[in-house]
Amino acid sequence: MSRQNPRRSLAKELAAAAASYQVAAVIPHCVTCSKPCCRLDPLVLELEWKQLKVIWLLDESRNAFDRRLASGKGPEEIRSADGLYFAHRKVCPAYDEGHGTCRVYDQDIKPAGCSDFPVYEDQGSITADLRCEAVDLKALVAWIARAIGPEFRIIQSADAEFPFLVTLSVKGGGRPGQGR
Ligand code: SF4
Ligand code: SF4
Repeated sequence: MSRQNPRRSLAKELAAAAASYQVAAVIPHCVTCSKPCCRLDPLVLELEWKQLKVIWLLDESRNAFDRRLASGKGPEEIRSADGLYFAHRKVCPAYDEGHGTCRVYDQDIKPAGCSDFPVYEDQGSITADLRCEAVDLKALVAWIARAIGPEFRIIQSADAEFPFLVTLSVKGGGRPGQGR
């Protein structure tokens, strides 16, 4: 019988806390957001081919699309790199601007980055993207602190290059593998 990995358990608690914060504080705001992330400006959406094909309603093969893109005749908002596609500076075709909703919201085809944004667990810490106007950093820290308990301290730090990306690191707790 294997023992539970304590670091992994904390990561799961953080992921659950991030998800519940999104449900409680972010998603209700999306329909009235003044700068929806789904307009993809300034955000960049990372897509696998299958996601691009479905969301952009492409009926050609991947090879044909790649040739079109390389010849400069593809959608101007799409770039490709390392086997992935990146959409930027044009509204996502799955975004219903009239209702402020996503047409693929409950579908597996929705890109992972859409579910993660703006608050997600990453390698035992929480990342918060303050470009989302619904994120209240102070309230988020309190939310995470309540979820993981008083034995942990939360240290916040902003990314040097992209200061709107804030990391909430968790220290203490006395669990093996955790810092103090
Ligand atoms: S930026 Fe935030 S509040 Fe606005 S649509 Fe995106 S997730 Fe919702
Ligand atoms: S797939 Fe949905 S959530 Fe993601 S950018 Fe498009 S409309 Fe927004």
